[in-house]
Amino acid sequence: MKLYAATKNKGKILEINKILHDAGIECESFPNMEDVEETGTTFEENAKIKADYLSSKLKDVYVIADDSGLSVESLGGAPGVYSARYAGNHGDDNANNKKLIHEMQGKKIRKCKYECVIALSKNGKTIKTFYGHIDGEVAEYEKGSGGFGYDPLFLLPNGKTMAEISIEEKNKISHRFIALNQLREYLINSK
Ligand code: IMP
Repeated sequence: MKLYAATKNKGKILEINKILHDAGIECESFPNMEDVEETGTTFEENAKIKADYLSSKLKDVYVIADDSGLSVESLGGAPGVYSARYAGNHGDDNANNKKLIHEMQGKKIRKCKYECVIALSKNGKTIKTFYGHIDGEVAEYEKGSGGFGYDPLFLLPNGKTMAEISIEEKNKISHRFIALNQLREYLINSK
């Protein structure tokens, strides 16, 4: 079975294939992918918008799209779907982290979670969505040089941040890994 992922990120394609390969599923980047505006207010809406739109461009093939981000309890779920552009400019991890440290100053409850929704669509319609999350706490300052995004501030129960563990370790516990495993189970059972 073959499916297309709505991403140009080679790292993501590798991660997806690692999880799906032994189930006989092969994933490729969506060909000539256009940027799709993420106008939804939830991860699920955004994942569906991307997967539905792109799958309407290719007949009878499975397309997956994901949306993910950080939700902080004492900030009412922010930055949420705005995770990539929390401080204004899309993808400015450094500014986003500085803003988060600032917003969290003096907050006693520091619970947060990374969330990921993957939508599976065909011919412009969502077939199913898959959800994964991992709980953590927002650290008071950045620690570690691995990972990306909010990883230097995402504190795990072992006291390390996501930026202080290896990519292999992260990929075994991450929100994306959990959602991908659910997709894997679904595809195996629907073959
Ligand atoms: P995307 O859905 O993969 O594009 O991620 C959206 C944004 O959420 C990223 O730009 C990051 O700010 C944040 N994010 C999602 N997953 C992670 C993660 O595993 N580590 C750190 N930040 C993440």
